[in-house]
Amino acid sequence: MLIEVALLRAFVTQIFVKAGCSSEESERIARHLASANLTGHDSHGVIRVPRYISWLKSGNLCAGQSLTVITETDVFAVVDGNRGFGQSIGEQAVQLGIEKSLNTGFSIIALRQSGHLGRIGDWAEMAVEAGLISIHFVNVAGSLLVAPFGGVSRRMSTNPVTIGVPIGKAEPLILDFATSRVAEGKVLVAATGGKPLPPDSLITGDGLPTGDPKALYGDADPTRTNDIRSGDGAIRAMGEHKGSGLALICEMLAGALTGGGCAGPDKPYILNGMLSIYINPNHLDVDQSFLQEAQDYIKFFKDSKPAEPGIDVLVPGDQERKRRADRTKNGIQLPDDVWFAIVDTAQEVGVTDFDIPTTRQ
Ligand code: NAD
Repeated sequence: MLIEVALLRAFVTQIFVKAGCSSEESERIARHLASANLTGHDSHGVIRVPRYISWLKSGNLCAGQSLTVITETDVFAVVDGNRGFGQSIGEQAVQLGIEKSLNTGFSIIALRQSGHLGRIGDWAEMAVEAGLISIHFVNVAGSLLVAPFGGVSRRMSTNPVTIGVPIGKAEPLILDFATSRVAEGKVLVAATGGKPLPPDSLITGDGLPTGDPKALYGDADPTRTNDIRSGDGAIRAMGEHKGSGLALICEMLAGALTGGGCAGPDKPYILNGMLSIYINPNHLDVDQSFLQEAQDYIKFFKDSKPAEPGIDVLVPGDQERKRRADRTKNGIQLPDDVWFAIVDTAQEVGVTDFDIPTTRQ
């Protein structure tokens, strides 16, 4: 199914409105999910709609929530997302970090108990828009998907790390990745007819590398169920011991330090914690040399002789900008299984009249 982004957003907005969210929040959820698709991260796009709706029904997610500030000063805040949609809670938490950092030069926001924050790159982009560097460590309490280096049993989730650096009027750097070999959503995409996984991205219960999503999901339908634990394998950590260590640090900073808790088998909800650090570069750039130095260096970096002739060296954020331009113009391609899971969800919540193909050919 190839669908134009405005139409997709309108359809997804209707689903959340029918499910009980305000039109403002529904539009926000749809905008962020579609933004993940636009940037090429289909794993964090509209494929999530059935799961979000099932989480809304089960109480894992709550509509219409706002941040509760537990404690704050001019430079930091500890905030609780009250299991609200990450698209709403994330915007509020990042806005708070931006305001504090614009005033003081630096800020730290410790966010606990947020609903799924989606593509974390969106939050770095929001800070970049305000002229700020930001660094985000994320964990997922209640989600065990990834085995630590040297292990087979799941001990953590896909714990993303994201860093945004504004470069004046030039394109910003947005480094945004899961600390697992693949994001869980990419396993979801592969399980629903999308791009297959690299053959060593998962590990079976017996310790063998595999690309088969069944190692994670077993025979469950992962778009439908909250229980993604029925496979006996795990996703592998990226970068061997280094990625595994970085994922552990996410548990410490985003889980233990925010108060949201680390990943574990007894957590009742699947929720994100996020420790975010915001830096106003103007406060450090006393020589006013940052922009020139950064731009010159990025050019030097990208001018590296390509390993494969004709394939350019990229910097973080290039790929997403290229995909956003292409998909904004040409539409978003969704595998049939993903599209019809969304259509089924729309029908379940009572969306009736919508002028797009909703039956299989
Ligand atoms: P990925 O492996 O596609 O890596 C993306 C990063 O690599 C980006 O910064 C991109 O610009 C850069 N990149 C891609 N190709 C490049 C190239 N050829 N040269 C240089 N840089 C390149 O991302 P991922 O690990 O699959 O993560 C996908 C998304 O999942 C992220 O947006 C992440 O925030 C999100 N995520 C969210 C959660 C959550 O709990 N909310 C959990 C895990 C992941």
